[in-house]
This record gives sequence, structure tokens and C-alpha cells, in this order.
Amino acid sequence: MAEETIFSKIIRKEIPADILYQDDLVTAFRDITPRAPSHILIIPNKLIPTINDVEESDELALGRMFTVAKKLAEQEKIAEDGYRLIVNCNSHGGQEVYHIHMHLLGGKPLGPLLMD
Ligand code: AMP
Repeated sequence: MAEETIFSKIIRKEIPADILYQDDLVTAFRDITPRAPSHILIIPNKLIPTINDVEESDELALGRMFTVAKKLAEQEKIAEDGYRLIVNCNSHGGQEVYHIHMHLLGGKPLGPLLMD
């Protein structure tokens, strides 16, 4: 059984977060350290530590993360100009919180993706 992170407490509203969307499968809230004018995290309510732990039965929740990203991008008025979705995996991927999360970043030109 994977160890819970602070994100499970956010899902259960045990600690404060700026939650923008929640349903039976996913929760979305503003990143506490925004790296762009819009920086939102979209997470499955089920604790899945990394992409390496994804199972076929998670496909509905993982797909919902994309439709919620699309809706929130429209809500943030960044859909037309564009935005970036990032999911980091493990240490080389830069993952710090071991509960899968999709970063939705936008509101300014983000430049090329860093590869180093
Ligand atoms: P990652 O490096 O992909 O694991 O990203 C983790 C993200 O979670 C970082 O962008 C943090 O700023 C963000 N974060 C950590 N704790 C919180 C929190 N309590 N509320 C909102 N965002 C958080």
C-alpha cells in the first residue's frame, strides 16, 4: 500500500487548497508555488504514486484528467493562446510528490521544453 501524500489531505479537504474542480474521480487545485500565471494541478482521487504504477482500471480517471484540463484551460482563458501539460515521473523526471499529478501551465509564452 503506497504512502499517502499531502495531496490525499487536499482531496479530503483536511488541509486548505484552492480547489477549482472536484468530482468522483479527480481533483484540481492551484499549485502553491505557481511557475506561470495559471498553474493548476489535476490529480486522480485514487492514490497512484507514479506513472509506473498506472493500471488499465485507472484509464477512466486518467482520461478525466485531460477533459478537466481542457475545461480549466477554457475557464482560465488560456485555451486559445495555449498551455502545457506536464506529468513528472520519479527522480529523473523531477517528481517531488508521489501522487500522480498533471501540471496545467499557461498564461504566458512558456518557451521550448527544457531537455537538460
Ligand atoms: P512535482 O515536482 O511534479 O512532484 O510537483 C509537485 C508540485 O506540487 C509542485 O509544483 C509544488 O509546488 C506543488 N505542491 C506541493 N504542495 C502543495 C500544496 N499543499 N498545495 C498545492 N500545491 C502543492
